[in-house]
Amino acid sequence: MNKNLRIPVIAGNWKMNNGPAASAVLIEKLKPLTANAQCKIVCAVPFTSIPAALNAAQGSNIAVAAQNVHWEESGAYTGEISAQMLKELGVEYVVVGHSERRQFFGETDVTVQKRVRAALNGGLTVILCVGELLGERKSGITSQIVRTQTEIALAGVTAQELQRVIIAYEPVWAIGTGETATPEQANEVCAILREQLAVLYDKEAADATVIQYGGSMNDQNAVELLAQPDVDGGLIGGASLVAEKFAVIVKAAG
Ligand code: PEP
Repeated sequence: MNKNLRIPVIAGNWKMNNGPAASAVLIEKLKPLTANAQCKIVCAVPFTSIPAALNAAQGSNIAVAAQNVHWEESGAYTGEISAQMLKELGVEYVVVGHSERRQFFGETDVTVQKRVRAALNGGLTVILCVGELLGERKSGITSQIVRTQTEIALAGVTAQELQRVIIAYEPVWAIGTGETATPEQANEVCAILREQLAVLYDKEAADATVIQYGGSMNDQNAVELLAQPDVDGGLIGGASLVAEKFAVIVKAAG
């Protein structure tokens, strides 16, 4: 399939930045800068900023994502938020399995799988993050790591549900470090993931799935990364906090 048939998705991961007031300001700044975008635009904001972000984004082409979701619908899970709660607010997307969740909050492939299932059941679109550690890349096991993460996360996900899954290839060594994968490295792993989807599902499903690159993507390197045939967008941390930089990345997506 020609890459041009997939609509790229540029998603900002704001992490633990921007309360409600700052979120509204950032979205208002983004709106005119990204009004003519040819790609989908998503801002993953902190839970408490979701209503303000949704309100500011109303009538624009900017969708709002949560940065995590719990696997149960409700119950005694102090501090957690369910897919139903996000959906009730009007959230469309959720990031699942971000490396910071894996690294700092004990997220495992199995809990990622449970969150993916809950998000899909709740009607959300998932941005599923996978990626290798620096040591794993140096040991030559990048492909094995991302394939295992993907296979476990997608266990039980049907081909129809896969239409609501975006995969974000995020080498952990490139996240927040200023060190970016080369366009070739990014494309190589995105292509491996697409091949794996063809095995797990079929070629049609693989060709239709949006696979993003994430890891220090910015206004300087986005054009080259996004030009790669298997890179269909980006998940952007630091540079998504500056409207002008994020807008340049959005433009680079086509
Ligand atoms: C991220 O948070 O997913 C990310 C890629 O961050 P950064 O762009 O800052 O590396």
